[in-house]
Amino acid sequence: MAVYTLPDLPYDYGALAPVIAGEIMELHHDKHHAAYVKGANDTLDRLAEARDENNLSGLVGLEKTFAFNLSGHVLHSIFWDNLSPDGGDRPDGELASAIDEYFGSFDAFKAQLTTATAGVQGSGWGVLGFEPLGRRLIIEQVYDHHGNVGQGTVPLLVFDAWEHAYYLQYKNVRPDYVSELWKLVNWQDVAARFDAARA
Ligand code: MN
Repeated sequence: MAVYTLPDLPYDYGALAPVIAGEIMELHHDKHHAAYVKGANDTLDRLAEARDENNLSGLVGLEKTFAFNLSGHVLHSIFWDNLSPDGGDRPDGELASAIDEYFGSFDAFKAQLTTATAGVQGSGWGVLGFEPLGRRLIIEQVYDHHGNVGQGTVPLLVFDAWEHAYYLQYKNVRPDYVSELWKLVNWQDVAARFDAARA
């Protein structure tokens, strides 16, 4: 039985239009995210086979493949819930206060996360996360799905900067896509993740 499963989108494919076209959402969820789920499950099976056969010669490759696919599954699962057709505006409450505390202001935070996302070299993500040792908010620029991250950081708000997330609609102009993405942010979901991470 598969360990990981593809979650349903919490809205219709076309619900995030015009910011994200329905065609992008369908491909992104049904093909790309699904492939990461399958890749994580398949790699777990191959790791089990390698143990059973007492042949760990391919372990380095399997570990890399597992990290890539599992992290892709985790980030996309968060990404869908971070977005909403009713999103946008700004957070309030403790999340808003924490953003002010750790980034100076909402505008400074927004500029940093926008630049982190738009400036990914190749494929990756911009991430607002809760770092549990310092018990603080940080922004990470993630390469692929799993590079350039601090261990233990809990992702709260993730922006997909892979070309598959925007290219059909925004072509090569990634900054326009990132700028539009802010209109969809479900701050209630981000705040709930912030509360859970601190608990
Ligand atoms: Mn993606």
